[in-house]
Amino acid sequence: MDKVVGIDLGTTNSCVCLYESGVAHVIPNAEGSRTTPSMVAFTPDGQRLVGNIAKRQAIANPQNTVFATKRLMGRKFKTPEVQRMQMTAPFKIASSDNGDAAVTVHGKRYSPPEIGAFVLRALKESAQEYTEATIKDAVVAVPAYFDDAQRQATRDAGRLAGLNVLRIINEPTAAALAYGIGAESSGTIAVYDLGGGTFDISILDFSGGVFQVKATHGDTFLGGEDIDARLMDTLIASFLSETNIDLRKDPVALQRLKDAAERAKIELSTVDETEISLPFLTADASGPKHLRRLLHRSELEALTQDLIIQTIAHCEEALTGAGVTIEQITDVLLVGGMTKMPLVQRTVAEFFGRQPNRSVNPDEAVAVGAAIQAAILSGDVGEVVLLDVNPLSLGIETAGGVMTKLIPRNVTVPVSVTEIFTTSEDYQPLVNIHVLQGERPLAADNTSLARFELVGIPPALRGVPKIEVTFSIDANGILSVDARDLGTKKEQSLRVRATSGLTEQAIERILSEAEQYQESDRLHVEMAELRRRLAGLIYTTERSLAESANYLTESELAQIRVDLEEGRRATESADMARMANALRELEKSAFRITEVMYKDLA
Ligand code: ADP
Ligand code: MG
Repeated sequence: MDKVVGIDLGTTNSCVCLYESGVAHVIPNAEGSRTTPSMVAFTPDGQRLVGNIAKRQAIANPQNTVFATKRLMGRKFKTPEVQRMQMTAPFKIASSDNGDAAVTVHGKRYSPPEIGAFVLRALKESAQEYTEATIKDAVVAVPAYFDDAQRQATRDAGRLAGLNVLRIINEPTAAALAYGIGAESSGTIAVYDLGGGTFDISILDFSGGVFQVKATHGDTFLGGEDIDARLMDTLIASFLSETNIDLRKDPVALQRLKDAAERAKIELSTVDETEISLPFLTADASGPKHLRRLLHRSELEALTQDLIIQTIAHCEEALTGAGVTIEQITDVLLVGGMTKMPLVQRTVAEFFGRQPNRSVNPDEAVAVGAAIQAAILSGDVGEVVLLDVNPLSLGIETAGGVMTKLIPRNVTVPVSVTEIFTTSEDYQPLVNIHVLQGERPLAADNTSLARFELVGIPPALRGVPKIEVTFSIDANGILSVDARDLGTKKEQSLRVRATSGLTEQAIERILSEAEQYQESDRLHVEMAELRRRLAGLIYTTERSLAESANYLTESELAQIRVDLEEGRRATESADMARMANALRELEKSAFRITEVMYKDLA
């Protein structure tokens, strides 16, 4: 069987992993990083950028840089979550014809699965380069609370990226797999997942290879971004008081500041003190202004402690929801990049009264677990049967606008139920079925998944036709419906009006557009590679220049400085020819330096 990868399609960062012969290989992207920002940017000249390159230009190109679209997946424009995101997002969020949330860039509308597909395609390409094989199949992780529409949307994203999504796995289940929890063991675990923009706490019961999500809780607007924002606020305020310059008015300065704030936060997870140094950040009439500041870990902690403490209330809620006490928890697993922050680890340890398990890199755990699931499916890992449960009850609308449950939540999937439908009037030619998902008693308060019409019912008095309808939820948590006329024993036709998601035609159209993009996608990979090489050479040249400056003539030194400066400018451009040229020139300079250094040795 072909290689099957595991993918964490995250709100902030995505990660792809291949599990082979008992080893998880987290696959680096073209720039060498093991996670890829889930960001897609559209430049004024029509280029599409994905990942790190998109992130680096986000603030300078805010309307056309799309991020956190996972929040929009499978959601209606009118839902509170989407409305809230719309208030703060610098890009435009709109409603598509069927009411689904979408984004608009340069006047073109993109569905969330399309944006997700751009990211997935980049991950797929990295995986193909890494394995030197064609990757067709993937296991993709989604939050445990994702409903049918959100799971469908995720699967559509895979399809649009040319990936067949073999299985959708719940993120906390994937994390549990990555932490080595398998078929033999049993217990109750807490999976604490603090990412870039969201916090999720899940309480899972597992035994005999079945994972049951007992409760999930969290905040879809709490994460690393909020920590970075706090730090930025402080830096901006002190810069304002020192220089009287408001950095908020300068998008380029703001981008550098945001990057520096995140970098400082990350560094403070391993060291006690770091220096934020942004030379030539901005300028006024008196000349250039630099930002330089030492930051101690304790300062960062004081600035952000209240945000971390907010997660604990959700942990309490989740425990109550699951009906378990802290003492019954057998393990606490950390997931999400933010859990590398020592304050987070301390806070979690204190609340649960035990050290959390940190044996797996938390920002890779979900991808690693998805890859293990992929290996299980492709037969690479022995007889482990792993099952998830239906996350939300499935039912139909019945008289009086009430939801009647057919499949309750937390039932192990795959599962199916059968109902008999009939007519309520004489000679009624069709029966309407409205399928719902959710826990609320009234139909209107739950998510509408689809409306089915049983059509072509043979003329009969009311109550006579008997049509058997089977609702099945597969291992991915995705619904399908079949109907059979018990009188004629024939398949009964169904007319499906999905209330959300992409139509088959829309998917076909997007796929054919993707083909047109293939060439430019390839160029972006090459560009990223070129930029990486150039940046590397600038770095080494700068260092060796310091040591060899005494042996070089004035004019040589001047030439090298010119080449370095042009190199720096070229890396910031999106111009491949310029970068290639700068690389050639800088290589000559580097060669000259090496020459004099070795002459000195000889
Ligand atoms: P998501 O699940 O939202 O896609 P991730 O799990 O990748 O996100 O977490 C991303 C967040 O983790 C970012 O805010 C990032 O700055 C933060 N992060 C990554 N590494 C570290 C670290 N070593 N210390 C602190 N925060 C980190
Ligand atoms: Mg995540």
